[in-house]
Amino acid sequence: MTEFDLIRRHFTRAAPNAVLGVGDDAAIVRPTLGCDLHVSTDMLVEGRHFFADVSPEALGHKALAVNLSDMAAMGATPRWVTLALALPRLDEAWAAAFARGFFALAAEHGVSVVGGDTTRGPLTLSVTIFGETPHGQALRRDAAQVGDDIWVSGQLGLAAAALQQRLSGSTELLPADCLRKLERPQPRVALGRALLGVAHAALDVSDGFAADLSHILARSGVGAQVWVEALPMHPQLAAERSRWLAAIAAGGDDYELCFTAAPAQAAAVQAAAAHAGVAVHKVGRILAGEGLCLLDASGQLVALERLGYDHFA
Ligand code: ADP
Ligand code: MG
Repeated sequence: MTEFDLIRRHFTRAAPNAVLGVGDDAAIVRPTLGCDLHVSTDMLVEGRHFFADVSPEALGHKALAVNLSDMAAMGATPRWVTLALALPRLDEAWAAAFARGFFALAAEHGVSVVGGDTTRGPLTLSVTIFGETPHGQALRRDAAQVGDDIWVSGQLGLAAAALQQRLSGSTELLPADCLRKLERPQPRVALGRALLGVAHAALDVSDGFAADLSHILARSGVGAQVWVEALPMHPQLAAERSRWLAAIAAGGDDYELCFTAAPAQAAAVQAAAAHAGVAVHKVGRILAGEGLCLLDASGQLVALERLGYDHFA
C-alpha cells in the first residue's frame, strides 16, 4: 500500500457541500452568501493529547470533535474540514478504524472532508475546520458585559477525573461517563447555534473552566464571580467535592460551552438548551474590574493551585 492508496481507500469520500473535494491541489468550497467564514485548527499529538493505546476509532472521533467544539463555541455551523496526518507507518487496520470514527462524526454534523496531507512521522493529527455564521452574529470571547450571567453546559471534570485515574494507575470505579467524556466528547454544536442572538460571549472549555473563563474576562476587559457549588458536576464527583474540585474547576478536555448572557435572556438561554438537548447551569456573574473570584457556599474565596492546563507551564 502506498500513501495514495491509503488516502484513496480511507480518506476520500463524497463531499456533497463542496465544489471540489479530495484529489486536486486544493479543494474548492463556496461560502454561503451573507455569512462570515470561521477557520480554526486543532492538533492532537500522541503522548501529549492521547495515550498510545487509545482505540483508533475513538481517536478519529476526538480529532474531529475538538475542532467541532471550536465552531460550537462561536455559534458557527461547521461545513468543511481538512485532515493532516503524520503516521509512523502505513497501517491499514489503524487507518480504517480511525476513518470510521472520524467520518461517523462528520456525517452526524454534515461536515465534508475536502482535503488534507499525509506524511510519515510521530503520530500527530491536525484538523482544520471551516464554519459559518450570519454576518456579525458570531459569539466572541470579547463580548461579555458587566451584569451578564455566566453559564456552563453539561458537566465539568469528568474527563479530568478519568485522566487522573489513568495517570495514577488506580482501579477505583469512576462513572462510565468519565472515560466516555475523555475519549468521545460530544461537541455542543447545536447549543452554540441556538445561542446566536441570545448569548454575548462564549468559548469551549478545553483547558480547564477557570483558565478558559479567564480568557473571556481578559478579552472583554471585565471580572467575574463564580459560585463553586453551582458548577455542574456528576453526583459521584459531587459526593467528594473537595477531592475533585481541581478536576471540575480547572481540569481539561470538557468540551462544554461557557457563555455569558444578560439576565433578561435567562429564559431564552434555557429554551436554547432545551432545543439542543443539553442542560445548562448558571454559575456566576460578570462584574466590573478584572480577574476571576471563585466563592464557596459561605462566600469564602476558593484558591486553586492552577486554573487550567498549559503545555509549557
Ligand atoms: P500535494 O502533493 O499537492 O500536497 P497530496 O499528494 O498531498 O497533494 O494529496 C493528494 C490529495 O489528497 C489532495 O487533494 C489532498 O488534499 C488529499 N489528502 C491528502 N492526505 C489526506 C488526508 N489525510 N485526508 C484527506 N485528504 C487528504
Ligand atoms: Mg501533500
